[in-house]
Order: sequence, then structure tokens, then C-alpha cells
Amino acid sequence: MNDFEDIWEIILNKIGEDTTQIMFDLYPKALKFEKYENDTVYLSIDKEFKKKVIDDKFRAPITQLFEDTLGFPVKLEIIVINPDLMEENQIDGIIAENTQQKLTARYTFENFITGSENNLAYNIALAASKQPGMKYNPVFIYGASGLGKTHLLFAAYNKIMENNPNAKVVITSYESYYNELLDCIKTKTQSEFHQKYRNLDALFIDDIQFIIRAGTQLQEDLFHTIDTMYQNRKQIFIVSDRPPKDMSTLEERLRSRFNNGIIQDILPPDKDTRIAIINKKAEQMDLRIPASVTEFIADKIQKNVRQLEGVVNKIEAIKTINNGVFPSSEKIREIINEVTNDNQPASVIIEKILERVSTDMEVPIEEIKSKKRDKKIKDARQISIYIIRQRTNMTLSEIGDIFGLSHSTVLHAIEQIEKEKEAKPSLKILLDNIVNDF
Ligand code: ADP
Ligand code: MG
Repeated sequence: MNDFEDIWEIILNKIGEDTTQIMFDLYPKALKFEKYENDTVYLSIDKEFKKKVIDDKFRAPITQLFEDTLGFPVKLEIIVINPDLMEENQIDGIIAENTQQKLTARYTFENFITGSENNLAYNIALAASKQPGMKYNPVFIYGASGLGKTHLLFAAYNKIMENNPNAKVVITSYESYYNELLDCIKTKTQSEFHQKYRNLDALFIDDIQFIIRAGTQLQEDLFHTIDTMYQNRKQIFIVSDRPPKDMSTLEERLRSRFNNGIIQDILPPDKDTRIAIINKKAEQMDLRIPASVTEFIADKIQKNVRQLEGVVNKIEAIKTINNGVFPSSEKIREIINEVTNDNQPASVIIEKILERVSTDMEVPIEEIKSKKRDKKIKDARQISIYIIRQRTNMTLSEIGDIFGLSHSTVLHAIEQIEKEKEAKPSLKILLDNIVNDF
């Protein structure tokens, strides 16, 4: 069965090479492989009118490609299936809205534990999102990895959207913003780009530190966007791993614009905050951790909230595997070592990526690695593939081996996610955030 699905994806790619993007998206891509039985390939589609076009224009080449690939003649049946009934099984649907909501829903002010180290950043972000453009502008928050910067950025974004559902807002990472700008320069559509950004009600940029690699012209471009928004009292929200003063190639005009707003750091949490974070996270998972263990973890992990969360997640996972038996202190020590060890071989990084996607998307790792095609599982699998590709030097075939997929299916997954990212800026920033963590 799966071999045929792989063959279908290869054929689909070939059809795509000879078809305009619009035609391709509307027709061949809307086809779903159903089954192969009695020398017949069954494909389904969601609309009668699409079937007519397929019969007319694509039936012959699809049949031919199947025959070329398989080496024997086949019949082709195209059936119309009501999309409401096949939702769960779509091959190429976009990442479900609720998948994405799940990813961002926990990044709220309510879920953010404050202590003396992050209190100011928290309050500035909150005040700015309650009165966008009026109080602190731009807001520039910086700090080391895993301290909640992206969390606060999303919390502010979520708050603004909650209060003004119609606001024109973009949330992005500098890397994605930069790529978008480059594309517009290539296709000479900068004026559309400027039109889009300079008319926003709020702009959120994560990981702006990458701007130090951009040349003067591209930095100036951002300056003009920020300046226009600032003059119009629109909120700008910037996150960085370092302050402007440590960005030596930052353009002077941007630097002074940032300096005129508010620049605030986030420091690693103190012990009380660390304990509160562990407790909160455990409580959310309905997990009871003895106070002595909480204290032990808080002593061992001092600089990174993500690692604190990682340990709690792992304890929960191991407890579940062991039928509810809480892991021994020896095991807890092991978990902490695993979570904090930075020099890992690729296999460990892959496991960590799968764990992260598994917790963020609430799909068990075994299912991500399985052949199941439920929408949610497939989303998680494609996202894992994408992140592994970004963060390791593995070839498509090597990545395919992890999941038992062909290299063309892996390529397809990566392209799929790249396309989704373009359509959904908030997905873009989530993925960039995860990628940057590994
Ligand atoms: P950064 O962007 O600074 O690298 P993130 O915002 O991605 O860090 O945070 C890493 C993880 O830790 C996220 O899952 C986030 O929800 C969590 N986190 C960080 N700080 C806090 C906090 N003060 N309270 C609750 N969760 C936090
Ligand atoms: Mg981040």
C-alpha cells in the first residue's frame, strides 16, 4: 500500500513539472491516492467539476506515468468523495488550524511565571500589548536561549489579537523577514512588500540578532518600516539574543531607534522561580513531583527554562511507560544529564526533536514514526522531517530511513512545510523557534 502512495507522490511531482502552479494546486494536487486493486489505481477528489477537468487533461498522462513506473498496464478510476467525510485522511491538506492553535495557545501571559529576573520584561510586554503604540515603542527584549523570549513575544501577539481581532499584524523571525525581502527584491515587488509592512498595526520580530549579517541596504529597509510604524504610533516588538550595544554591525539609525524605545533583558530564573516553573508545568500535566525532586532539578538546571520543561516532560513520559511508577532518583539524574548535554550525536538530536514535536503537538513519538496518515499525526511527522533537515546534515534518504519513507516523500514533506510557512507567518516563527533550539 505504502509503496503505491510513494509512487503516487513521485508521479504527482512529475505532473507538477509540466503544469502551471495554479492548475497543479487545483487539480492533480487535490487528488488523493486511495488504493490499488485488480490492476486498477483508485484516486479520489473532492469535487465533481474537478473530476471533469482531471478526466479531460490529466487522466492520460497520469495513467501513462503509472504504467511507466510499474512496467505493466493499469486502469485509472477517479472517484468523488465528499471532503467532509475524508477530512482526517487528506494527503495534502494544510496544517490544521487547531494544530497551530495548540502550538501557540500555551504562550500566554497567564502561563508565564514571573520572578525578579523576568518581571520587567513581562510587565513591559503586557503594558505594550494593552496599549499598543502608546506606551513603550519599540519594545526590545533580549536574553539567552530558553528564557521565554519567544513565549513573551507570542503572549503579546495573542493579547493584541484578542483585543483587536481585525488588527493587521505580522509575527515573524528576522530570518524569514529577510528571505521575504530578498524574494521581493529579486521579483521587483518591493513596493508591495513596503505597502504590506508599513501599514501594519503591529509587527513582531523574533531573533533579530541575525540582522548583523544583513548589509546596510537591507538594514535600512527595516529602519524605514520601523520608522514609519513608529511615526504612526504602531507597536513594534523585537526579540534578540543580545542587546543592540553588542551588535557591532547594526546600522546607527536602527540602533538609535531601538535606544529611544525600551530595551529590557531577561535573566536566568532564580531558584524560587525555577521551582515555580517546575511545579506549574507538572500541574499542567497532572503530574505530582515530590518537593525533594523538584528541588534537586532546580539545583541542577539553572540557566534554561526549556531544559526544566524538558525534564518534567521526560519524567512524565517515563512514568507513563512504567505504568505510573515514578522514576528513581538514579533515573532522574540520567534524565537531567540527557537534557543538559550539549555535544550530542545526530541520533540524540533526532530523538530530542521528536520529543519536542511530540510534546508540542501532543502526538506520541511512535505515531510520528508510524505510517499512520491521520491529519494530526501526518502534520507532526512533516514538521519533524522539516526540523531534522534544517538541523542535521542528513540526506533525504537518511531522513527517510528514520520514518520508513522514500526520499521523494521526505522532499515532499519539506516542501509542504515550506509552503505552509509562507502562508502562515505564525507557523513560520514557531518552526524557526524550534529549529533555533537545536
Ligand atoms: P527563548 O525564545 O528565550 O529561547 P522560549 O520562549 O522558546 O525561549 O521558551 C522556552 C520554553 O520555556 C517555552 O516552552 C516557554 O513556554 C518556557 N518558558 C520560558 N520562560 C518561562 C516562564 N517564565 N514561565 C513559564 N514558561 C516559560
Ligand atoms: Mg526563541
